[in-house]
Amino acid sequence: MEKIIFLDIDGVLATPEYLKDGQWALNPEKQKLLGEILAKTDAKIVLSSSWRYATLEKTKEHMEAEGFLFNDKLIGVTIRAYQWLERGTGIHLSIPRGVEIKQWIDTHIHSDNGKNWERKKLGKDFTYVILDDESDMLLEHRNNFVHTKSEIGLTDDDVRIAVSILNKTCT
Ligand SMILES: [Mg+2]
Repeated sequence: MEKIIFLDIDGVLATPEYLKDGQWALNPEKQKLLGEILAKTDAKIVLSSSWRYATLEKTKEHMEAEGFLFNDKLIGVTIRAYQWLERGTGIHLSIPRGVEIKQWIDTHIHSDNGKNWERKKLGKDFTYVILDDESDMLLEHRNNFVHTKSEIGLTDDDVRIAVSILNKTCT
């Protein structure tokens, strides 16, 4: 079964207690906790954080420079979705992060090379967990969403819940 972690950084791995040049930076303790999830699930990572760039290659370069320890597990980035309401004015509609995550799932897991549309079964063919301190996910994500606290980041409890979601299978 494919297992994906949609990973946010600020408020998950980067926390206010660990600063670099005054900015929230990758906290070694939090990276260790992510490592526990990866070791127990063999999941892959898709970056949904504002730390991502438009391409996976550029994102990996950036994450490596920031000291991210799990570039080998990083397989993708979500799109940046927004809609200009009045072009040229800077006024735009902000689109929930959950939509960007849904787009990744729909185009990377459900389709078969863009030829045969095949809907794979959540919990049987694939599963995922969202680690994020924001709340703009979709209702359909509710059983796969681990909502971290911005000031604290990832905790032991979050790890336990994420592992149980990722290792749960349909019967
Ligand atoms: Mg965040």
